[in-house]
Amino acid sequence: MGLSFDNKVDGSVWLNFDIQPSAHPVSETERTAKLADPGFGRVFTDHMAIVRYDQAKGWYGARVESRANFPLDPATAVLHYAQEIFEGLKAYKRADGGVNLFRPDANARRFRDSADRMAMAQLPEPVFIEAIEQLVRIDRAWIPGGDGSLYLRPFMIASEVFLGVKPSAEYIFAVIASPVGSYFKGGPAPVSIWVSENYTRAAIGGTGSVKCGGNYAASLRAQAEAIAHGCDQVVFLDAIERRYIEELGGMNVFFVFDDGSLSTPPLGTILPGITRDSIIALARQAGRTVREEAYTIEQWRADAASGKLKEAFACGTAAVISPIGTVRSASGDFTINGGVAGEVAMGLRKQLVDIQYGRAEDKHGWIRDVA
Ligand SMILES: *Cc1c(COP(=O)(O)O)cnc(C)c1O
Repeated sequence: MGLSFDNKVDGSVWLNFDIQPSAHPVSETERTAKLADPGFGRVFTDHMAIVRYDQAKGWYGARVESRANFPLDPATAVLHYAQEIFEGLKAYKRADGGVNLFRPDANARRFRDSADRMAMAQLPEPVFIEAIEQLVRIDRAWIPGGDGSLYLRPFMIASEVFLGVKPSAEYIFAVIASPVGSYFKGGPAPVSIWVSENYTRAAIGGTGSVKCGGNYAASLRAQAEAIAHGCDQVVFLDAIERRYIEELGGMNVFFVFDDGSLSTPPLGTILPGITRDSIIALARQAGRTVREEAYTIEQWRADAASGKLKEAFACGTAAVISPIGTVRSASGDFTINGGVAGEVAMGLRKQLVDIQYGRAEDKHGWIRDVA
């Protein structure tokens, strides 16, 4: 593509992170208190990783340092034209005290794809992974035990000070980390979802398959509508026919049928979830048929009524798998599997979580051991 960024994939030149441990880390007592009930996304570790990009210099200044504010000029490009992308993955503490990352190479690749679509400089994949590993190493005391995990948030912003509308010539890539507790206490409760008939999330040629902040900004009104209708989450339909199920605001969806097969919406306008991809692999390995195929809201309703559809669930890194219990829309509500968590969803969830925590064999080479 015609952008003049230094997009060399070989990251070996930039792998030397300058490690500057914080002079004022949180005390052990305070950290223990924070880790007792961290919730999601409000508690942060002591450090962050940063790499900068300048069109003239390429990638430079890789470092791990004390987590701190970014000074930003009010004319910084990201504040005006939203050239921003992010990722989400977790570090899991194993029973033997070691630490696992789950498919960070897939996040690194998707981050490059996102950068490409948003006309941003592409961070070499080895640098993305090294930044994460260095941060996990220095902040490993922040990884909760049990079924908690350390949520990692790599992101990149356009940092050039310029109000012209064009791809920024400067970027800041950073990784921050946030300990999270068990997403669901006492196992995942089925969620209720609202079918958005007023808003769409993505169209062909748009940014639906990219993890950019703007997609989330555009989904919040629909999510607020879902909450106003007493639902936990919104589900979007396709932008052309307004019939085909796409995905939730931040999770992919699966349907389970009475013949044991699964289906999930095809890639294109949806976000290519790593959890989605892993579930497809696990289900196929177990001998199930998995179709990546378009499925309408009318068919979903009819199949739930006839009993052909047995289960439905949402999936993503944060919550792994959430069974869908109730579907609500302006044209009526329906219940799935009597509103309780299904066996297939819960079985896949356990398989995936056991691999992530190192309790089950990693047959697919998904685990990266952070030494
Ligand atoms: C991140 C995300 C997902 C889930 O992706 P995972 O890689 O499984 O975490 C699904 N949908 C959207 C819109 C997302 O942003």
